[in-house]
Amino acid sequence: MKCVEPMAPKAKAVSIEPAGATIRYGRVVASYACDGAASRGRFIAEAACPTRSPFQRDRDRIVHSTAFRRLTHKTQVFIAHEADHYRTRLTHTLEVAQVARAMARQLCLDEDLAEAIALAHDLGHPPFGHAGERALDNHTARFGGFDHNAQSLRVVTELEHKYAGFDGLNLSWETLEGLVKHNGPLLKAADAATEALPWAIAEFNKRLDLELADHASAEAQVAALADEIAYSNHDLDDAFRAELITVDMLRDVPLTEELLNDVSVTYGDLSGARMIYEVNRRLITAMISDAVCEARRRLGVHEVRKADDIRHAGEPIIAFSKSMQERVEELGRFLFEAVYRHERVMRVMRNAEQVVGELFEHYLADRKSLPGAWAEPSVQCDDVVAVRHITDFVAGMTDRYALQEHRRLFDATPDLR
Ligand code: MG
Repeated sequence: MKCVEPMAPKAKAVSIEPAGATIRYGRVVASYACDGAASRGRFIAEAACPTRSPFQRDRDRIVHSTAFRRLTHKTQVFIAHEADHYRTRLTHTLEVAQVARAMARQLCLDEDLAEAIALAHDLGHPPFGHAGERALDNHTARFGGFDHNAQSLRVVTELEHKYAGFDGLNLSWETLEGLVKHNGPLLKAADAATEALPWAIAEFNKRLDLELADHASAEAQVAALADEIAYSNHDLDDAFRAELITVDMLRDVPLTEELLNDVSVTYGDLSGARMIYEVNRRLITAMISDAVCEARRRLGVHEVRKADDIRHAGEPIIAFSKSMQERVEELGRFLFEAVYRHERVMRVMRNAEQVVGELFEHYLADRKSLPGAWAEPSVQCDDVVAVRHITDFVAGMTDRYALQEHRRLFDATPDLR
């Protein structure tokens, strides 16, 4: 019997090419997209690659980095060893990159730059997600604290040791700018005091001015919103899998209630897992469509012609509409109460925080106990440098390596389940 696929309703073809768009590296790009050929370059000058744009090359360096592979064994929200299907920091990162590419293509931006920033955005995350970050921030408070975003910059500018000519990955200015400012400007004005900045960003900015008072490129803003779209959706899915939420609970959240009704009209009563997935796929599409529409509106309002117009627009260009923003915030409040502050999640995170804190204090008190090549430099340096060195080591750990080290060094290790 011949299988006939049902016909999709005919969509009206809409041109997405903005005025002034050109073809670059085989893709349609807007005049306000970042252009690799006009890049502000790398800190250490390098000859151009014959087969890739500078942003493609950045993306490839990120994928080949050691820190990227470590994301496999780092927690997103749920400790990965509890079950096989929870998102890890790596699968979260891949979902962010996928959403970022979809939005970048719709808006005729440089997809490779958006993807590179998305793939690098969580490279500095310590083990056990925000619990690990809180522990490191508390234990290093006297020395300037810890911030995962600043740590991502350290990873790509200092901590990868693969290339003969430089430490780090020697990424383009636009990728570094996007990594540091993807959540908005870090300074109120160009001449503002930099004391409030995370120390790693303040120090790097003295070497290479990332124009911290301006917004980042549209590609970086796409990566930032893609992060929110990805985690809002996959945290719902993971929380359902962890039995922290039910389909009925989603009927109290306006954004998901609409979509549940939509799925029920089409398919009737579905089993919970399929229902959540059908809601998720509709929710991702709704969020992306809304953001793309709103971005086109803002591009028009600000009469954006070139990439720097976006940096100086005074507000983000890539954003949800006001009504979607309100509904996304309601969804965020629901996730916060039902998932992130759930006692089952909190208990594991408190234990994780203890593990990371105790590791840090142990290495600080006995620097020679750092393994291998990490031990020697920390013994000879002053306290500030030693703290930074130990922070780099602990932040780079995967969840399982942190637990393994804790078991090696302590009599009792909390059960993270
Ligand atoms: Mg993220």
